[in-house]
Amino acid sequence: MYGLGILKGLGVTIRHFVNTYVEDVKLGARKATTGNSFQERQSVDSKGLYTVQYPEEKIAVPERFRFIPFLVTEDPDHPERPGQDWCTSCGICAKVCPPQCIWIVRGEDPVTKRPIPQPEAFFIDIDICMNCGFCAEFCPFDAIKMDHDYELADYDRTETHIFDKKALSKPFSYWMSIAPTTVYEEARDRGAWEHSDVVKELRKKGETPTPYTEPYQVAKMRFASGDTPAAAAVQEVATVAATGEDPETARLRRRKEALERKLALEAKANK
Ligand code: SF4
Ligand code: SF4
Repeated sequence: MYGLGILKGLGVTIRHFVNTYVEDVKLGARKATTGNSFQERQSVDSKGLYTVQYPEEKIAVPERFRFIPFLVTEDPDHPERPGQDWCTSCGICAKVCPPQCIWIVRGEDPVTKRPIPQPEAFFIDIDICMNCGFCAEFCPFDAIKMDHDYELADYDRTETHIFDKKALSKPFSYWMSIAPTTVYEEARDRGAWEHSDVVKELRKKGETPTPYTEPYQVAKMRFASGDTPAAAAVQEVATVAATGEDPETARLRRRKEALERKLALEAKANK
């Protein structure tokens, strides 16, 4: 019948209109007692329409939500590899990034000057990043992930929007807190909670990596009970002792050197 579709559409609109007030009345009392009405309003069972009072109220983002990427590091309280990068500076993410907004400077051994599997510097221009998630999809080491933090507006569009390694790095436990299902699936694929290189090393030495079947918090306690300092931690202590620098000064020096190398490379490329 002509016009039936219009009537059905109006019916849907009226239903939403009425449900909005019915839900408001139902949740009003609970808001006063539990303060949870906003969460209930966001649930899949919620009916009607509602206005989010942003920024006081924020809609919870789904686990697969993606914004600017971040780099996964070990937790700062990790007994063997505190704060160590998961990134091996293989460069795959920079290659696949469609708008080419990733810049990586590969780390090198201070003594032998040979490349080491750690980034000396890592930059992402967040104004150019289009949040496609290719970098996270292609990273073979689960080292770069899409963040949920979308409140990045700033008055300065120059330097503050070029995120360096420090701004990009976030601990594994943060990744666990925003995407527990994905973290678990990735650990299952690696066969353990540790980084894939660490898993290989442990197996080579005949040791057992931490099984992914353990809850992460339990696994973390097992890390904490370990008493074998990793070679990287020993190297860090030895380097700082040899140079007399405190870790922060050493980090800033390495960053300055990396930036100088980056500028030199850019100058060479622009010749
Ligand atoms: S984030 Fe992943 S893909 Fe990118 S350089 Fe590091 S290890 Fe390679
Ligand atoms: S999300 Fe896409 S555009 Fe942004 S850095 Fe990763 S690959 Fe590049």
